[in-house]
Amino acid sequence: MKPNLVDPKKHGIRAGIIWWATDEAREDYGVTAKDLEAAGVRSLNILIDQSLVEPLRQINQDLASHQLEVEIDDGYRSKELYELASRKVAERKGDSVSKSLFNLTEMPHTTGKAVDIALVSTEGTRVPLFDKEDGTEASFLGYYEQFDDEKSRKFVYLQKLLGRIMISNGFEYGSKGEVWHFNYVG
Ligand SMILES: [Zn+2]
Repeated sequence: MKPNLVDPKKHGIRAGIIWWATDEAREDYGVTAKDLEAAGVRSLNILIDQSLVEPLRQINQDLASHQLEVEIDDGYRSKELYELASRKVAERKGDSVSKSLFNLTEMPHTTGKAVDIALVSTEGTRVPLFDKEDGTEASFLGYYEQFDDEKSRKFVYLQKLLGRIMISNGFEYGSKGEVWHFNYVG
């Protein structure tokens, strides 16, 4: 079914911009304006299917007692953007990293019902779910559970809090088990 795409920011839900269209993506992966045009990216705004708006608002209400809310880092992605992003990552970081990050079999973001979620404080400061410095494995569920230091315990706590609230509002983790990726199943 064709997604009915809306801008979450117009519905009071925090959202960033499409990362693949940023200067950082151009510098890190050599993504050009021409590449983006070919992938059908016409705006920097992240879009999501309209059916996600109410559940995400409820999730923010559930997170409010923890002084947290969600920020959407990625939503709808065309098939062409998937292909572009996975190709660029493969060129710079190798096939195995690209394969670990992009689900080209299911392409869940093409439905508009998949979101990559970050936590922010109610003032808008990022509250990280993992540390990029810990490498690609740190992106996946369960990674920090093998450690018992304060930082790891904090990440485990935040990941479980977010996961529990997302799941109770109709979302599921994706098949790759990334800590930030959720599919709305209603
Ligand atoms: Zn995702």
